[in-house]
Amino acid sequence: MKFERLNLNRREVLKAAAAVGVTSSLGLSGCSGAEQAQQAPVLQGAIGKDGHRVPPWSNWSGNQVSEPNERLVPRDTDELSAMIAKARQGIRLVGAGHSFSPLVPTKESLMSLAYFNGILGIDNASKQFEVAANTFLASAGEPLWQEGLSLVNMPDINTQTFGGAVATSTHGTGSAFGSMSSTVTGMSLVNGQGEVMHCSAENNSELFQAARNNIGALGAVTSMKMQAQDKYHLQETSWMMDLQEGLEQAQALRDTHRHFELYALPHADYIMGITLDDVSEQEALSQPRVTSGDAYETFKTLSKVIDAVPFMKRFIINTGASTVTKEVRSGRNYDIFGNVRDIRFNEMEYSVPAELGVKCLTEILDTIKKQNINVIFPLEVRYIKGDDIWLSPFYQRDSCAISCHNFHDKDYKKYFAAIEPIFLKYDGRPHWGKIHTLTAKEQSARYPKFDEFLKVRAAMDPRGIFANAHIKTVLGLS
Ligand SMILES: Cc1cc2nc3c(=O)[nH]c(=O)nc-3n(C[C@H](O)[C@H](O)[C@H](O)COP(=O)(O)OP(=O)(O)OC[C@H]3O[C@@H](n4cnc5c(N)ncnc54)[C@H](O)[C@@H]3O)c2cc1C
Repeated sequence: MKFERLNLNRREVLKAAAAVGVTSSLGLSGCSGAEQAQQAPVLQGAIGKDGHRVPPWSNWSGNQVSEPNERLVPRDTDELSAMIAKARQGIRLVGAGHSFSPLVPTKESLMSLAYFNGILGIDNASKQFEVAANTFLASAGEPLWQEGLSLVNMPDINTQTFGGAVATSTHGTGSAFGSMSSTVTGMSLVNGQGEVMHCSAENNSELFQAARNNIGALGAVTSMKMQAQDKYHLQETSWMMDLQEGLEQAQALRDTHRHFELYALPHADYIMGITLDDVSEQEALSQPRVTSGDAYETFKTLSKVIDAVPFMKRFIINTGASTVTKEVRSGRNYDIFGNVRDIRFNEMEYSVPAELGVKCLTEILDTIKKQNINVIFPLEVRYIKGDDIWLSPFYQRDSCAISCHNFHDKDYKKYFAAIEPIFLKYDGRPHWGKIHTLTAKEQSARYPKFDEFLKVRAAMDPRGIFANAHIKTVLGLS
């Protein structure tokens, strides 16, 4: 087998890594049945008030499912307020269902603000815009660009809603940039009594500090104002480095590029670096458009090889990684930020103090090797600027977010259980939308303004209609 002929690029190696895991999950690579994920139960849907079945709900990866007894889709704020005011059971808001933690599941009412959609206004002088809460991030790029503006930063996909992304401090990477929540300048929401509330740094400031990472516990967010900036083009460069070299260079690369992230390959001696930097329109257009190519052959080849010789996993991944070529692509920022994720996975992410990121990652990679954990999915390492949002994982601290993934049809619990204590040792704070096991006791110790958040929540939702079982666990509500 000549791996040199594979000539892998970044997407191909990630997908090839994914392919290896898929074969493992099929039991072809020697993993035991005990390591297989439990299949989610097939849900039929609860019987609603009208005697008909209500469609069951599942999140993106399928690790969260629920059978709400009612689906609510208000058409406007008046109808939304009326629905909430007369609610006699719990209501959970759902955006795009891209959270891995049980933030959304409910046996009561599941509410979507699908009609609250679109850019509502753009103020060129302040470079701010107002967006309806259920707008997908992907829908904002073009209309803002037409007005000469762009989002300041973006996560690595764009299929979340603004309301969902802001609820969990969704973030991209770049040490000079905070999370999406940190660019919110004002919010409108309907509280648990059905009243419309507005907040900003100047008006209702306590609500503002709570609402910018609200985990859906304060009410239904209908719209928000966000700070944008002048539109810009980006050039993305990705390349494979020797693991030690990559770890040593991480902080310097973080400090010299607009955006920098790492993909660490478990069990391997390589790490991928990705930088994004501003380029002029002329430079962006002068480069050939790089497509990700058809990874299927690579996928199949690597899978077959590892099926046959699972004990050679490290050698095979190293050999594949060593052939990865540098890839450069450029374009409008929103085209470059948004990746397509067609392989489903589950994810745990913790943010540790920025200066401890490399040490924490090193310990995780060593643990995976020492415990021979059956995972080949790359770990993602990103940098986020600290903020002042009460429940933000980046509250008053510049952070390094480290994400562990496993394929959606593999048991992630054993892997995540081995890694979570390392995150806790480094004073990590979990991403609210990703898998973790912390309860209110541990969360309150991580957030100096936890009690202030609880006070705002009690005032916004005295009946507790926005609290599902998970919200009660992480906030300590009865
Ligand atoms: C493939 C993939 C890639 C991802 N990449 C990143 C990444 O790069 N960076 C990152 O930080 N995270 C990432 N995530 C996590 C994701 O961004 C968050 O979980 C985000 O909260 C999901 O947004 P959503 O629109 O799907 O909301 P949902 O998951 O549906 O809901 C999230 C929370 O928001 C609340 N909510 C939604 N809408 C409203 C509303 N209108 N009013 C009040 N509350 C509301 C819900 O009740 C819930 O508590 C990724 C997830 C996936 C599946």
